[in-house]
Amino acid sequence: MQDGLGRTIDYLRISITDRCNLRCKYCMPEEGVPWRDMKEILTYEEIETFCRIGAELGISKIKVTGGEPLVRKGCPGLIRKLKEIPGIREVTMTTNGVLLEEYLDDLCHAGLDAVNISLDTLCPEVYESLTGRPYLFKVQKGLEAALSQGLKVKVNVVLQEGINDGEWKNLTELAKDAPLDVRFIELMPIGYGKRGKGIAGDEILKKLTQDFGPLKEDVEIHGNGPARYVRIPGYKGSVGFISAMHVKFCDSCNRLRLTSTGEIKPCLCYGESFPIRELLRTGDLEGVREILKEAILKKPAEHCFTELEKITETKRMTEIGG
Ligand code: SAM
Ligand code: SF4
Repeated sequence: MQDGLGRTIDYLRISITDRCNLRCKYCMPEEGVPWRDMKEILTYEEIETFCRIGAELGISKIKVTGGEPLVRKGCPGLIRKLKEIPGIREVTMTTNGVLLEEYLDDLCHAGLDAVNISLDTLCPEVYESLTGRPYLFKVQKGLEAALSQGLKVKVNVVLQEGINDGEWKNLTELAKDAPLDVRFIELMPIGYGKRGKGIAGDEILKKLTQDFGPLKEDVEIHGNGPARYVRIPGYKGSVGFISAMHVKFCDSCNRLRLTSTGEIKPCLCYGESFPIRELLRTGDLEGVREILKEAILKKPAEHCFTELEKITETKRMTEIGG
């Protein structure tokens, strides 16, 4: 379906839980946050029903995210159900990778098409101070296991000044010998992200160019997102930049979000959302369809991340689904 500005909306990101086994400083406070009561969280059946309606309206790609999707029991079963929906071509997941090795076989059998692994540092001490947990080795094992299963892998990196900005090079090198894409995502002023100082994608690109010479833009389609990619000669994978703060890609935005508590969010930047949980629970599927259409039609033209006073979203990234 097209939104009010003629953009085709075919991509849905679903937060299946607000819970997480890490405490990334830009996402959650160290002491954690009160979890939502499970009664407030959409059941897997409700998510599946919503996705069936979405597929009828043109959603063809789904990303399962959170919180940490793999801390919710039965996540591979949900993936399998979503893959079976007519019209859904691709189901992928964004995970911190801590539990990936444990669930990898189940996820692959369920038909997961690709995985994004969030990894901001390769230094165990920095990892522990950034995430509050000593789990770097688990993420690395998950990453290796995913590659050895032949799963498509992207590594998502958020660099912050004075914390891990010196690691642009060793993180880029992950794409040297393995066919994975490393993507530098600019820190956005959502939730606890307002506290940190991010690094512009162009700054990293400049450093890469100083090291490797002019880099060829990789125009091959890499996924559903707004990333621009370059290739480094001799590298098996590409390096991508998702520069929400410095490059506006809203005119080609194709996505909607569904929060863990059942609210459709047309844009990450604004608080406006469209609740569908009670409609799902009372079996009013026609009502859900109408709300979904309305949410698509009312998708804002663009975000306003560079004008902090205009950001109306107050929820945390874990609730919205990053
Ligand atoms: N727990 C999973 C993970 O970390 O991959 C999925 C949810 S997490 C919210 C999804 C992504 O959002 C992660 O790559 C994380 O680095 C990113 N993220 C969280 N807060 C952010 C912020 N303020 N700005 C940019 N990216 C952010
Ligand atoms: Fe958890 Fe992902 Fe947020 Fe880190 S970024 S605290 S892993 S939800």
